[in-house]
Amino acid sequence: MQIESYVCGAWHRGSNDGRLVSNAITGEPIGTVSSDGIDFAEVRRHGREAGGTALRALSIHDRANRLKALAKHLLGHKASFYEISAKTGATKGDSWVDIEGGIGTMFSYSGIARRELSNEPFSVEGDVERLSAKGSFLGRHILVPKEGVSVHINAFNFPCWGMLEKIAPSLAAGVPVIVKPATPSCYLTEAMVREMIASEIFPEGSIQLICGGVGDLLDHLDEQDSVTFTGSASTGRKLRTHPNIIENSVPFNMEADSLNYSILGENAEPGSPVFDLFIKGLVQEMTVKAGQKCTAIRRAIVPQNRIDAVTEALGAALDKVKVGDPAVEGVRMGALVGTDQREDVWQAVGQLAESCEIVLGGQRDFEVVGADIEKGAFFPATVLRSDNPLENQAPHAIEAFGPVTTLMGYNDRDEAIALAKLGRGSLVGSVVTSDDEEASAVVLGTAAYHGRVLVLNEDCAAESTGHGSPLAPLVHGGPGRAGGGEELGGARAIKHYMQRTAVQGSPTTLTAVTRQYTPGAKPVTDVVHPFRKYFEDLQIGEQLVTHRRTVTEADIVNFGCLSGDHFYAHFDEIAAKDSLFEKRVAHGYFVISAAAGMFVDPAPGPVLANYGLDNLRFIEPVGIGDTIRTTITAKEKIAKDKKPDDKYHTGVVKWAVEITNQNDEPVALYDILTLVEMRGE
Ligand code: NAP
Repeated sequence: MQIESYVCGAWHRGSNDGRLVSNAITGEPIGTVSSDGIDFAEVRRHGREAGGTALRALSIHDRANRLKALAKHLLGHKASFYEISAKTGATKGDSWVDIEGGIGTMFSYSGIARRELSNEPFSVEGDVERLSAKGSFLGRHILVPKEGVSVHINAFNFPCWGMLEKIAPSLAAGVPVIVKPATPSCYLTEAMVREMIASEIFPEGSIQLICGGVGDLLDHLDEQDSVTFTGSASTGRKLRTHPNIIENSVPFNMEADSLNYSILGENAEPGSPVFDLFIKGLVQEMTVKAGQKCTAIRRAIVPQNRIDAVTEALGAALDKVKVGDPAVEGVRMGALVGTDQREDVWQAVGQLAESCEIVLGGQRDFEVVGADIEKGAFFPATVLRSDNPLENQAPHAIEAFGPVTTLMGYNDRDEAIALAKLGRGSLVGSVVTSDDEEASAVVLGTAAYHGRVLVLNEDCAAESTGHGSPLAPLVHGGPGRAGGGEELGGARAIKHYMQRTAVQGSPTTLTAVTRQYTPGAKPVTDVVHPFRKYFEDLQIGEQLVTHRRTVTEADIVNFGCLSGDHFYAHFDEIAAKDSLFEKRVAHGYFVISAAAGMFVDPAPGPVLANYGLDNLRFIEPVGIGDTIRTTITAKEKIAKDKKPDDKYHTGVVKWAVEITNQNDEPVALYDILTLVEMRGE
């Protein structure tokens, strides 16, 4: 069988003599992998012209809705992915992380894009920047999709998650993807991409797949394209310094080897809850995916006087981990992805053993359940110990990408922090302690060297996602050895594929460009009250200036009685004179309530509900005798999809509200959000 690529709208078979990939458990051949015959310039052109053009025509929310539909579609086919995943040596739990963890990330990105970004083909970012004294010249940032492709070169350990966590933000951004999975497990990626293409949820050209080498693809990229790489530091360095990548300043995000630490707190007694949590976390990180996790704990940093107790507890826990064919009942750790990888890990353990002592595992002959130890890519859980970890650099620099960790002792907190930093930049660190003062010192002491730090103790353990799990809303990446890149991190990852451009001009021009009202822009007025208009009929910039109202003492007294708020600034003449305001003033909440009374149109109409208020600022006090008036302006419209159970089809309208006094000075500024019915014709 040949593992195929999907390029230029068709499935492509390479030559017959491609690289052979085998079942990690049985060693049986699965197929050959070759990208021979692919015209890589054409692949990029197809991505740009077919995929890019179609994606950029969709709004961000439309792309996000398709992500959700695609995630649902893939979930519906998960059983077949689990079946194939077993061939990579994965247990059911490992496959869950890869398959459902990846699909979950896609769901998350659908939500993040709809919640945090504009419902336009582009997004508007941050506040309006005032650049002139009179306010006729302003600036604001927009983010537009890059007009190229994003090339994702992935590692072998997460053939599904590794793809999905990158394509979800890219597709949400409106940038087509070219996925290049690592060869040893590309057959699982291929199966998932087949379902994506068959679903026809994303336009043709949005998703292409290259199984095998990428040929001269990198030579064809330019400033509109980007590359994200996950894999070994040596390959990453080679690709990052590719002459064309440098020549065209092609953004290159790199995630590479990472020697993540976990520190056991200074006062953790053997048998205490934190001690047990530390051991449990370490065993989990060693055995999930047979330790082939970029976030696995490679360096276990423990108080010097606890080394023996930790070794003993680890030994007891690892003894219970049966290694073998995950299809056999009771097996908890499967195989590495292939025998080449097994030899790589043996080599790394050999190098580590030159300066560290193997204290658990490390023998080539060990019990394998339900499979042939020679044919499958099995590896025993192995623990080493470094006795001079401040001087011995090997465990801080050599990554054995399997079920392998090195124990090292520390004498005081500063030493623990110094050891953590010797990893020279990692994806994640963790400290297991109930002492928040220690936690704070370790987090602040090691954060500059790490992309994420977990503090684990009894308070959060039951719900903690653990040391090794990257999460969609949080950054995944690390400085230095870890590649210096950033993935995930919520909307940040979507923006990575977009160009941030500062737009300068008049308020009216900025309103037209951003499709959001900019204060100072020429308003749109109409004799019809804006609350009587359906969502589609409202124009951005549509404005209502209300009648005036003079605030009286009776207003203050009535509002105080109604709300129960008898704060001295409203009710105590003497204290109010000494206050910041030097007089009694109206309640701020009265002022905004009075404003609502001025701007609403009371009869039933298309405005169905007021569901929030943002950015409220009270600027000037309102005293007895002051006269206020309100201006509301339609600032932004966000169309919503109608769900089957929804009674109405609605959109959200954000209104800028300004309350002014008799001197035309603003006294309060805020945004209100209303749910407005659509005509839906
Ligand atoms: P690798 O050998 O560096 O390969 C990574 C990817 O690069 C594969 O898709 C590989 O394709 C491709 N590649 C290799 N040479 C290339 C070239 N000249 N041009 C274009 N692409 C090329 O790494 P690996 O063995 O797959 O993965 C293990 C390593 O990944 C470990 O060191 C681990 O630390 C790291 N990793 C890091 C993270 C992270 O998030 N930081 C996550 C997972 C893994 P082929 O397979 O076809 O050669």
